[in-house]
Amino acid sequence: MTDAHTPKPKIAFFDFTSCEGCQLTVLDSLQTHPELLDVVEIVEFREALTGHAERYDIAFIEGSCTRPSDEERLTSIRARASVVVALGACAHIAGINAIRNNMPLAEVRNIVYGDDANRFDTYPARPIHAVIAVDYSIPGCPINPYEFLRIVTVLLQGRSPELPDYPVCIECKLRETVCVYQRGRTCLGPITRAGCEAICPARGYECVGCRGLTSNPNLESLDQVMAEYGLKPDAIQSRLDMFLSWELQDRRAKEVNRE
Ligand code: SF4
Ligand code: SF4
Ligand code: SF4
Repeated sequence: MTDAHTPKPKIAFFDFTSCEGCQLTVLDSLQTHPELLDVVEIVEFREALTGHAERYDIAFIEGSCTRPSDEERLTSIRARASVVVALGACAHIAGINAIRNNMPLAEVRNIVYGDDANRFDTYPARPIHAVIAVDYSIPGCPINPYEFLRIVTVLLQGRSPELPDYPVCIECKLRETVCVYQRGRTCLGPITRAGCEAICPARGYECVGCRGLTSNPNLESLDQVMAEYGLKPDAIQSRLDMFLSWELQDRRAKEVNRE
């Protein structure tokens, strides 16, 4: 922590392809916990202030890498930051941006941009750790404000924040929520990383996997269970593709390389 004579740690926020909802969650967190501003200096944050700095103690990066020029910008941020944190699902796992990776790129460009398709240099979406070294991630779409505050606090204390590596189902059971499967619907909680306090099932919705996969998900078993609950293979795939497209593609690519 800082006193009046110690420079405050410089933190910065950057956005790539995203809806900017995670940055909005940060702004909400600063409104409910303004004391954070007593211990850090925010030097770049396009949504909130004008300003620029050459060095950052912590750079929070929201959004996916979706075009060649993003690589150059990410590399430049990495070179100027002591710690890089992926902020939200778009940065952490490419999130919903990677749905498009399941279709031919030319088709996606034509659907989105029509006659202007060739004016944009977009390519398949990737999480930022596919381009630069990332020290930590804050999962979720959007991020959980309490997890953001906890991780910032841990980083400011010079410690390493850890994420749970067990499924959302554990938190769901601890809350004594009635399982979505018992309501006749399906849920990705068994393969999804916990840390959100199973907020969606607690409100009657299924988990759609926004925090990404646990390190050892049993995808085969989940497929079987969802099929038993009447989901056809296409419906299972589209459920998984919503947030997990990039992670599933990456796992398949690594399996092929091992063979
Ligand atoms: S993770 Fe979700 S809320 Fe955050 S920027 Fe991406 S789409 Fe928006
Ligand atoms: S509702 Fe979803 S997260 Fe909760 S126990 Fe059932 S499958 Fe797991
Ligand atoms: S329950 Fe699932 S979809 Fe909902 S916030 Fe948690 S990880 Fe995301």
